[in-house]
Amino acid sequence: MSQDIEMHSLRHRRGPRRPVLRTWLMVVVAGLAGALARAEDVRKIKVECPLCEDEFKFKLVLEELRSGLRLDFKQFGSVHSPAEVPECPRCGLVLPDGGRGELSDAELDTLRELIKSDRYKTAREETSYFRLAVIYETLQRPPQDIAFAYVAASWQVDEEPVRCQIYLARALAWYETYLVRPEPTSPARTRAMLMRAEILRRLARFAEAREYLDEIAHHPALARQVDQNIIQQQRDLVAAKDDEPHVAIADDARVDVALRVTTPGSRGLRPQLTTEARLPAFPSGPYAARVSGAVTLQLSVTRSGYVVGWQVQSATAEAFAQSVLRSVRDWTFDPNRLDGAPSPVQVECVVHFGLDG
Ligand SMILES: [Zn+2]
Repeated sequence: MSQDIEMHSLRHRRGPRRPVLRTWLMVVVAGLAGALARAEDVRKIKVECPLCEDEFKFKLVLEELRSGLRLDFKQFGSVHSPAEVPECPRCGLVLPDGGRGELSDAELDTLRELIKSDRYKTAREETSYFRLAVIYETLQRPPQDIAFAYVAASWQVDEEPVRCQIYLARALAWYETYLVRPEPTSPARTRAMLMRAEILRRLARFAEAREYLDEIAHHPALARQVDQNIIQQQRDLVAAKDDEPHVAIADDARVDVALRVTTPGSRGLRPQLTTEARLPAFPSGPYAARVSGAVTLQLSVTRSGYVVGWQVQSATAEAFAQSVLRSVRDWTFDPNRLDGAPSPVQVECVVHFGLDG
């Protein structure tokens, strides 16, 4: 889902869609989907520079082995992330949109001017995605697309902390430009929120990162378990003042809650959490070690639905218990489901932390 949206936002406005190049973009902007192992397929394809009309070859990665994504959306363990971007060997233009689509005459004129400018000459000392970002800036592409090009540029300089930070700071500025715009929530926007938190952390701006994570933790657009997992993972990293790249907890991590009323005389009651209640996040330690687990606890719930007491009865690991305790104190239950029970209602709660595959 998020892949399609991101692809859409990166797609050229008037350009025709070609399946091969759509796949190229899928590789570039792979979403937070589960880690899927795939065979790698690298092909050389020919593209034409829109400025000097020279044809040249570039490497197109159709599919590759994916072993997960980092918090900054880079494919973990991949040598092709970001995918190679077509760049004209003659004039040095990095082709927008992977060389697909048509550029208007005005856009071509703009690019002709750009590649002669000092700005672009300076950019030639940077990476190809940095140049792509400069091109998107010049063509006034959507800020989130410019931001993502800078993020991809930062992946190209993973081993150079200073350059990496410069690129990330630019990405952050563009994400912030995008996020201050009053727009409805969308997967692109959700991603921008997560990316803003990630970049603040990577730039070691921990206080701002923590404040921003607190702000977005209850955002309705980030209610999905996969997003909640990431928010908690970021909080843990920020608390540890960790500004390194990390593999993201993906949607192969599942958290399920089973609830049962144990108060005598309350048979038949089926307690239910309100939609505002957030399930516990899958903790990053056990996730990295591929360990699943469970926590059983007793909750005291007022008839109006508030949790007023909790006691952990068993937990397969401390990290799971901590995660559950962080979340249960904010839970609220649907009071209609508790009607007729003696207050407070005793609820047995079993939280399962599962991993797919
Ligand atoms: Zn050219």
